[in-house]
Amino acid sequence: MRATAVPVPLVVRRAHGCSIRDVEDSELVDFNMGYGPHLFGYADPDVAEAVADQFTQGHMTGLPHALDAEAGGLVAELVPGVEQIRFANSGTEAVASVLRLARTVTGRSLVVTFEGHYHGWSETVLRAGKTTLQIAGTRPTDVVPGAPGMIPEALAHTAQLPWNDTDAVREFFARNGDRTAAVILEPVLANAGVIPPAPGFLELLRDLTSACGALLVFDEVITGFRVARGGAQERYGVEPDLTVLSKVMGGGFPVAAFGGRKEAMRLLATNEAHHAGVYAGNHAALRAVVAMLTKIRARPGLYDELEAIGADAEAALREVFAAEKRPVHISRVGTLMCVALLRKPPERHGTLRDLADAVDFSRHRRFQTLAQREGVYFHPNALEPWFLSTAHTGEVLDKAAGALHRALTELG
Ligand code: PMP
Repeated sequence: MRATAVPVPLVVRRAHGCSIRDVEDSELVDFNMGYGPHLFGYADPDVAEAVADQFTQGHMTGLPHALDAEAGGLVAELVPGVEQIRFANSGTEAVASVLRLARTVTGRSLVVTFEGHYHGWSETVLRAGKTTLQIAGTRPTDVVPGAPGMIPEALAHTAQLPWNDTDAVREFFARNGDRTAAVILEPVLANAGVIPPAPGFLELLRDLTSACGALLVFDEVITGFRVARGGAQERYGVEPDLTVLSKVMGGGFPVAAFGGRKEAMRLLATNEAHHAGVYAGNHAALRAVVAMLTKIRARPGLYDELEAIGADAEAALREVFAAEKRPVHISRVGTLMCVALLRKPPERHGTLRDLADAVDFSRHRRFQTLAQREGVYFHPNALEPWFLSTAHTGEVLDKAAGALHRALTELG
């Protein structure tokens, strides 16, 4: 069985729309939504039927397939910074591959990341994250291995800067720009607090990386096809050199991708850069990609619809917390949201350190347990994002608001 994050066990039997039914036959409104892939809710028939059909036609040959071009073509059409693409099986794998590609292209090894940003669990990027932000005395620039068993030296070529800190970034580039291979970031910090980029921050990263010959890599595993049709790069109008995608793109199937400018991606085609994986781009997963992206492309008003769902959810939640006079951090970009109980208002908005200082992690965890009992599921880590889908209708949100209100009252 997979690891569970929740204090009270939750074992699922069925998932449909935005509702999950557990083995004890309780039904819960889900705001975690499988960590984000299900933009159209669980068990979307278009994706399910496409994948079922692919199973009758051979779902894995280890050879190029017509679906590679079809799925890749759709991504390239929708995501501004992607001209060519490689498929992989998970976000972790796609990030590891994209960084290897960036190091191959530039011949440099240093990679810059930002505090609180998550890029999977591979050896050079897993750093102590939002949970250790609670440990006093660590500085944003301390790169601490994120798990037991990691080789500390593997992080020797990874630098970490505070998110949205213009001065820190400028200073770093003035000293290290010419030995930097890549800067990788979540263009909206989704994995810790849903903190959007400060105005001009993405532009600054674009300018500094271009000026010193480093590559700008957007990890759009969460934001891709979620915060806009073309992801955060479309929403904020800044084009990276390389992009990592997963989650919404595959509608819940294990598929990810990395892509970007032809000059860099070409090295993979000629075997001058390395990427491998028996199941990478397997035909069943690519059918899911084609089904999801065809559906997204066919609904021009989809992102206005999603924005409205997000706004409704935010309004309903703000009302619940205001009624109980609870200090809360609610941050939202489209259907991506963070809801965290606070001890006090944060000193400055837009910085992860101040937010993490203000969050009441243990109270939030107790709130999660009570909410789960009342029929609402969200992740117990206060800084983890909530995900909405087209299945989160007004009726569902009303029901969830009632349950959350009861949970808050019980929390005392
Ligand atoms: N990057 C980001 C931004 C993510 O949110 C995640 C997963 N939550 C990953 C990478 C890693 O993806 P996976 O879990 O599929 O390996």
